[in-house]
Amino acid sequence: MIYLDNAASTRPYREVLEEYVRHSQEDFANSNSKHYFGFATHSLLEKARKSVLTDLGVTDTHQALFCSGATEANNTVFQGIAFRYANRGKRILVGSTEHPSVLVTAHSLARLQGFEVVEIPVNAKGQVEPDTLASMMDKQTILVSIMAVNNETGAINDLPALAQVVHQFPKAFFHSDLTQSVGKMEMDYSGVDFLSFSGHKICAPKGTGVLVYRSKIGFESLHRGGDQEFGLRAGTVDVPGALALADALHRTCQEREAYIALAKTLFQQLKEGLSQIEEVVLNSDENGSPFVLNFSLRKHKASVVVEALSERGIYVSSVSACNSKGEPTSYVLAAMGKDPGDCANSIRVSFGHENTKEDVDAFLIALKEILTEVAPR
Ligand code: PMP
Repeated sequence: MIYLDNAASTRPYREVLEEYVRHSQEDFANSNSKHYFGFATHSLLEKARKSVLTDLGVTDTHQALFCSGATEANNTVFQGIAFRYANRGKRILVGSTEHPSVLVTAHSLARLQGFEVVEIPVNAKGQVEPDTLASMMDKQTILVSIMAVNNETGAINDLPALAQVVHQFPKAFFHSDLTQSVGKMEMDYSGVDFLSFSGHKICAPKGTGVLVYRSKIGFESLHRGGDQEFGLRAGTVDVPGALALADALHRTCQEREAYIALAKTLFQQLKEGLSQIEEVVLNSDENGSPFVLNFSLRKHKASVVVEALSERGIYVSSVSACNSKGEPTSYVLAAMGKDPGDCANSIRVSFGHENTKEDVDAFLIALKEILTEVAPR
């Protein structure tokens, strides 16, 4: 198997899984129980929380709430802010290339709660420009959500510059989905009020996630009926999961420089190989995350090529979301102004620390063969 779909999910670190099993077997008390065993488990949870805040560089200003993943964290921010602060204003701004767990959640607030939800356009590289954001902010805006790194293209947003724009409006909060950036790049997150990500993108088990929030900001909880997680997420906490996420994040951050160097080498190698294929157009560039390379095919159907690669044991992604006519297409590439044919025929290759030069060689050989075998579209 050649796995080049690390933006979708990653193989957990073996050591993290071993510790997860050990904690599950040894530290199984309910962290809310008022006995010594419960207190001991609770202190492990606090250790995990501190570790996450330290690795994100926001120990003094933020708090961490463990949850099931980025989707839940994103839902918590939108609903939690909308329900608490609707009296301040009803305008919400979201990047037009956000993950559906942000976009759909935001639009549901428009549909169900009468919020005005406006999508912020991106430039041709897929980035939200601070000036564009500034021109859309007003006193009614209570929440702005812009991801750090796009999951389809790897486009990077300048969070510190965007945070500065948002904070010129004291009633507005700034959220960023870090799912594709955390542990994969150096970025100052301190200006962002809400940060969310999933553990399984950084080699922790699935079903683990975090919402990091500026400690002084209150918000409504999504889950009610218990005082766990500061009363912000009711329900017994998965302490082994929280420890596994914190451990995986720490390992990833410690190896970050080496992982980035590897991803850059593989990105460059793949880019050079793809430049020899006439019908390929690149949708990612070197200013983006080196962990994601997105390209479109001009003559072949990307979904057919991805399936043919999969039959050879090579795993990458094509876009699965459908447009109004039921055809698979990428709203992310469309927002960047790409041609509709390119939007419907993109392939995403995403690297992880286990990938090698040989993986990229094998991918390129297989792709070239498939393009000669499969009928053009
Ligand atoms: N945000 C981004 C940017 C993502 O890439 C993903 C996963 N595809 C999510 C949110 C949702 O993550 P999960 O499915 O783990 O909740």
